[in-house]
Amino acid sequence: MLGLMQEQPLLISSLLEFADRHHRDAEIVSRRFEGDIHRYTWADMAVRARKVANALDQEGLLFSDRVATLAWNGYRHLEAYYGVSGSGRVLHTINPRLHPDQIAWIANHAEDQVLMFDLSFLPLVQAVHARCPTIKKYIALCDADKLPADSGVPGLVSYEDWIAPHSSDYAWPSFDENSASSMCYTSGTTGNPKAALYSHRSSVLHAYAAALPDVMCLSARDSVLPVVPMFHVNAWGIPYSAALTGCKLVFPGAALDGKSVFELIENEKVTFAAGVPTVWQMMLGHMQANNLRFSTLKRTVIGGSACPPAMIKAFQEGYGVEVLHAWGMTEMSPLGTLCTLKNKHLSLSPDEQTAIRLKQGRAIFGVDMKIVDGDGKELPWDGKAYGDLLVKGPWIVKEYFKGEGGDPLIPDENGRGWFPTGDVATIDADGFLQITDRSKDVIKSGGEWISSIEIENIAVAHPAIAMAACVGVFHPKWDERPIVTVVKRPGQEVTREELLKFYEGKTAKWQIPDDVVFLDAIPLGATGKILKTKLREQLKGYKLP
Ligand code: ADP
Repeated sequence: MLGLMQEQPLLISSLLEFADRHHRDAEIVSRRFEGDIHRYTWADMAVRARKVANALDQEGLLFSDRVATLAWNGYRHLEAYYGVSGSGRVLHTINPRLHPDQIAWIANHAEDQVLMFDLSFLPLVQAVHARCPTIKKYIALCDADKLPADSGVPGLVSYEDWIAPHSSDYAWPSFDENSASSMCYTSGTTGNPKAALYSHRSSVLHAYAAALPDVMCLSARDSVLPVVPMFHVNAWGIPYSAALTGCKLVFPGAALDGKSVFELIENEKVTFAAGVPTVWQMMLGHMQANNLRFSTLKRTVIGGSACPPAMIKAFQEGYGVEVLHAWGMTEMSPLGTLCTLKNKHLSLSPDEQTAIRLKQGRAIFGVDMKIVDGDGKELPWDGKAYGDLLVKGPWIVKEYFKGEGGDPLIPDENGRGWFPTGDVATIDADGFLQITDRSKDVIKSGGEWISSIEIENIAVAHPAIAMAACVGVFHPKWDERPIVTVVKRPGQEVTREELLKFYEGKTAKWQIPDDVVFLDAIPLGATGKILKTKLREQLKGYKLP
């Protein structure tokens, strides 16, 4: 017997319709490329998203056709999010930090038909457009008078001119909730990039989950700043969860430096912000140097790479901001786990609580996970055994776009499957996950594993160290030994010997790195994470002392 409840497909357009009806005057504030601050409301946004949908109809775009964006976090990008997906097309957010060759490859692979871009990426578009034959329309996300006269991009129009003639009446179509809504390529440090193709259903379910109290705890009382970019995994789903909760949204545009981000938090009374550790590093540096304090910020989600303990402490103890450490992947929409305490942890001492907060957290309903050994046998949840991390759930990829790239799912008892994350982790008895490493970054020393994350965390806890990356190098006896490459804070000094001494008592003796290499900069990838492949190349020829 079937239930007798209404069959309403879970569609992205329904999130916008909800915000438009029930949170009409909640604000959306954006720092624009032009430098000024733009403000309007969810109701204003909905009007313009409907114009986008009409304009796409006019372009002759069919259901599931791809519309690409190369854009910062801002109101026009948000209009594209809803106008494109809501009208049944697929929003393809491209990461502008990728190499132009990769961008051209991705646009061709996705068969993008339209490209919308911020003017700051005009040089990039000029460099790739001749190699993107499927793109038939280029739209610059700017006012008409900002459009460069001779852009060198064929048929370039300004976004405002493009939507202006269109009606703001539009009936969002209803279709199968499993239809594709958006896509995001993983940076692909080896081989070609692979695309996760999200559906309306997966995006709406993920939006519900992200808003839960034990996840981001979003509500209509919040002012939310996603510093995490809308060009990478849909800014962790915040553009959708924001509509679902009717919160105020604050977009930083291109200005991600500490001063600009701090000012925006204060001026817009931001209560909740989300970003990767490197962005917060810049902001904390600015605050410390200028002796600044937050007046409204309560919580921040930090993820994308391991959040160093020193950063969690700085936010919590220095500024009274709760840090929610999160783990996820492009392939997971991206949220997998988030670290919030359980009732039984409330009576623990602050230090004991911090020890828990350093972990990547507990699974969100909708995500199941397990760790397995080399033979695929499940390992115990004791916080000690580490193994390959597998996940499954309705917002986790089943396969990549066009079936290209990656390994097939590992079958489960229901004939569905587990997605191999490529991460190595422990899970404790309370279900808290701790990422030990990416499987390819773990250092295998004499048959034992050393977590590069742990070595890095200790280095950045030293007051003179700004950034650290640990890699394994060949050793004739132990196979591999860790070394740590570090960048010093400006004006600070520390010697190799002092830093190695700093490790003593903080980790097992045999895990202390064999050497310290001082660098001016550590190579970062397109999503702001340390690019260990490039670092290893840079260290070619290096010999252990
Ligand atoms: P990319 O395109 O850079 O691969 P993803 O965002 O998909 O981007 O990267 C996912 C990976 O990032 C995870 O598999 C994990 O290795 C790492 N990661 C994400 N969050 C964390 C975290 N909180 N701690 C440690 N590693 C993390």
